[in-house]
Amino acid sequence: MNTQSYTQGRQDTQLLEMCIGGAFDLTVSRFARREALVVRHQGLRYSWQTLAEAVERHARALMALGLARGDRLGIWAPNCAQWCITQFASAKIGAILVNINPAYRSNELEYALSQSGCRWVICADAFKTSDYHAMLLELAPGLATSSPGELACEHLPELRGVVSLANEPPAGFLSWAALQERAAAVSVEDLAARQASLNCDEPINIQYTSGTTGFPKGATLSHYNILNNGYMVGESLGLTEHDRLVVPVPLYHCFGMVMANLGCLTHGSTLIYPGDAFDPLATLQAVAEEKATALYGVPTMFIAELDHPQRDSFDLSSLRTGIMAGANCPIEVMRRVIDELHMSEVQIAYGMTETSPVSLQTGPDDDLELRVTSVGRTQPHLESKIIDTAGQCVPRGEVGELCTRGYSVMLGYWNNPVASADSIDEDGWMHTGDLACMDEQGYVRIVGRSKDMIIRGGENIYPRELEEFFLTHPAVADVQVIGIPCARYGEEIVAWIRLHPGEGPDEEQLRDWARARIAHFKVPRYFRFVDQFPMTVTGKVQKFRMREISIEELQLP
Ligand code: AMP
Repeated sequence: MNTQSYTQGRQDTQLLEMCIGGAFDLTVSRFARREALVVRHQGLRYSWQTLAEAVERHARALMALGLARGDRLGIWAPNCAQWCITQFASAKIGAILVNINPAYRSNELEYALSQSGCRWVICADAFKTSDYHAMLLELAPGLATSSPGELACEHLPELRGVVSLANEPPAGFLSWAALQERAAAVSVEDLAARQASLNCDEPINIQYTSGTTGFPKGATLSHYNILNNGYMVGESLGLTEHDRLVVPVPLYHCFGMVMANLGCLTHGSTLIYPGDAFDPLATLQAVAEEKATALYGVPTMFIAELDHPQRDSFDLSSLRTGIMAGANCPIEVMRRVIDELHMSEVQIAYGMTETSPVSLQTGPDDDLELRVTSVGRTQPHLESKIIDTAGQCVPRGEVGELCTRGYSVMLGYWNNPVASADSIDEDGWMHTGDLACMDEQGYVRIVGRSKDMIIRGGENIYPRELEEFFLTHPAVADVQVIGIPCARYGEEIVAWIRLHPGEGPDEEQLRDWARARIAHFKVPRYFRFVDQFPMTVTGKVQKFRMREISIEELQLP
């Protein structure tokens, strides 16, 4: 029996030693006439065959723009068919796709474009309150007066041009339709030769980590990293060509482009995009009308679907499986997903962009209790360990920092050797910054981010534990717990509470309820009742913002 917190994943399924383009062609040849992609908000449906035609045309058009193997191609758009087509087409020609968060504003956009050295960008016209054309024109005013492909911009010296998804983009932008016409300039043979020249260990994707603090860093991932991760995630779910997955998560994040797009690609399953951004009603409608078998989401998405007033009017009984991931998955929410959304085989995945993303996942054979209370065991072909601050593996059952090693660990941060060396040690271990503990059987529980831990009067308090606790109160719909500075105890606990609609407890009643059930030092000093939490677009709660707001409201120094 291994008493150290170290495990290896199973090795019984071979890793795929191929590029994404090769995997795509294989699926097209096996499942040509089956449905590949449904984009409900655009009214588009593709079989693998028609998707292949769109991908190949786009790949040749991108080559016609002069994109060479290793050149960076940015994509800045909410979920849409063109996003998926661009992902597969850029992989076929070996251009590195740079995912740009649709919520970015000009400062962040400029940073991502210049840090990655994008040669071309494909952008939507506008989304929510963002006018993408205006922001690009502000950054590169020369766009308006140069012909597409001939931009010369001082701040963005590598940028040659912008493709717009708008039907009639402003002067200087190349429209998607006009781009497709350029495919004629590159032959099918030239594309095949380019695809054959690629190596699966080369970088194919840069993802700026959503970064709840600090400057975004561009996790650089190879075909091998992400194709295999999508494949192993789909294997764990038992996906086949008969599965239909609803994808409300953003494509610019690996939850969308790897776990969904590459998970389905490697299994011939159908991708269903319910909308350009998350909407609980559109998601429920997509499940019911498309007879979906699987659904993905971050916990807050599942909560919004479960609590939607029209939920009962939808027949969701086709659902079998899915994944909840991206943030702490509360036990109560998991139970409701199983009972009320019929997702009897739902799994939890844990990971981070830097590890493609998934490194731990619950499995179909795990008992229910473990499926709702842990993030599962180490994914196939990977290693996990939990270490103390001195870097030593801790005994099973003790809390420490979780580290991951294996095929899924990124190549590094783009053009940032210092940050890369800070995260991946000399032995190849990615240090996640997450606090976790591993049980006797190798199941891991995440207890928080190392910097999230609250230390109050010398007692370590894990917000995760308190969040789980408050969710057992029938009136509490969602909760986030943070620490704020306190002269006397070092830190004090603040609980931000979102109540179910209707009558709810007040602060004193909630405090009394907690006092009767948990140790006194864990009872929050402050409560704040809210309708929503500050979030990143990937559904990660921005605890640093909550901290700032609470400090300001409580007038703390
Ligand atoms: P990202 O790189 O945006 O995917 O964020 C990765 C971070 O999300 C991890 O380091 C964790 O802090 C958190 N995370 C992801 N999945 C889970 C999970 N299942 N449970 C708890 N935290 C998670």
